[in-house]
Amino acid sequence: MNKLFKKADVVIIGGGVFGAAIAYYYTRNNPGNKIIVLERNELCNAATSHAAALVTKVRAKRSFIPLSLETYKAVAEMEEILGESMDMKFTGVLHVAASEAREADLKELMAIAGEFKQPASYVSQSEAHKMAPWLKTDEAIRIGYMPDEAYCDPYLLGTFFSRCAKLQGAEFYQGIEATQLIMNASDVLGVKTSAGDVYAGVTIIASGAWAPIFARQAGVSLPMAPTRSQYWITEKNDIFPVNSPIVLLPDAQAYARPEGGSLLFGIRERNSLSVASDTIPPNINDFSFSPDKGMQDLSEVIDRLARFFPKVYDIGMKYYVAGFSGYTPDNNLSMGVAHGINNLLLATGCVGAGIAVSGGVGLAFAELASGRPNPFDFSPFDIRRFGNIDPFSPEWLERCAIARSTKVSG
Ligand SMILES: Cc1cc2nc3c(=O)[nH]c(=O)nc-3n(C[C@H](O)[C@H](O)[C@H](O)COP(=O)(O)OP(=O)(O)OC[C@H]3O[C@@H](n4cnc5c(N)ncnc54)[C@H](O)[C@@H]3O)c2cc1C
Repeated sequence: MNKLFKKADVVIIGGGVFGAAIAYYYTRNNPGNKIIVLERNELCNAATSHAAALVTKVRAKRSFIPLSLETYKAVAEMEEILGESMDMKFTGVLHVAASEAREADLKELMAIAGEFKQPASYVSQSEAHKMAPWLKTDEAIRIGYMPDEAYCDPYLLGTFFSRCAKLQGAEFYQGIEATQLIMNASDVLGVKTSAGDVYAGVTIIASGAWAPIFARQAGVSLPMAPTRSQYWITEKNDIFPVNSPIVLLPDAQAYARPEGGSLLFGIRERNSLSVASDTIPPNINDFSFSPDKGMQDLSEVIDRLARFFPKVYDIGMKYYVAGFSGYTPDNNLSMGVAHGINNLLLATGCVGAGIAVSGGVGLAFAELASGRPNPFDFSPFDIRRFGNIDPFSPEWLERCAIARSTKVSG
């Protein structure tokens, strides 16, 4: 590590989409200031590159929506800066409601779309089937369509943020591991790394599944648990046109989107897997998520999905992808300031929505790190809301796993 590396205005632990997005906004809004991002592997190697990458805007949790809207703004801005398209897939999303409870949710969602000026309309069963020929719609009571929703290549989104941040002066260091916060009483002064110490005015923990380890060093119990998300990609078939919409199936607790002539789908397992942060190896590829590529988990819930995707029983599965997101019992983000500790921010607890909300998270933390107010309302994400918990305890892990397996909306 060269000597210049020792002092910065801001240091970020973790070069996933959150770290990269914060660096983008920070350099955009504070030209000339020095920000360093430390990544022990390669940028975006962990959760970010494994995401299904639905960039959902309209959702039941209103507090997420301005954050996602910011992501869309950032993409357009970065495409301008780089003179390249990020090739976001604006396929729109179909929300399929097949029970009275989910119909009520859908009505509420359509109203929320209106509040946020997002186009939304109901479509018939046959219209929906025409748009997504794999979708069996006869059990649907109501189907909503929101044409402005998209998915993206999550790795590309992360690299767009980091490339633009670098152009604006951010320094990214890969292959360097943060090991320990440097503290003086309740002040965080920076971080020790595998290549020397970095002192900074503000330290931001954006280390994804490993975030509770650094929080603990500062005496902060970070309420989240790394919880497995998994999805499958089918073989190619004509029933999966490349431009067909994303489909959300809350009655099946499942989602799907096209993937180059195949279908990518995820479904909440009966038993989710949450693990303690300090048991996850530094390289996520060394973690064994499922010896049978999720087949046992899938078989336990496949009937739920088959109501809407009957072909699932006999279509071949080409790929299995799994990774960790930071889950919480209320499925709200877990992030913000570390109360009682100075100069420390926590960009953590993404609840499986980190790609979608990355723009807002990036802007929020860039502003907080600059000493300016957060432009968004982060009160629902406050890390004190669960009281005194131990994020490494089996009881806490169980609470977070249950929250994921019972989650209905995306
Ligand atoms: C299977 C799956 C599907 C998903 N689908 C979606 C989706 O459809 N839509 C959506 O919005 N979100 C989705 N997500 C969630 C999304 O991927 C995450 O919310 C997002 O990537 C979180 O980004 P992050 O930067 O917090 O974490 P990460 O991308 O995990 O980045 C954290 C980084 O910190 C680094 N790090 C850790 N410890 C250290 C250390 N000591 N020193 C240096 N570096 C360190 C890691 O190497 C890693 O690169 C999905 C996630 C998974 C796993």
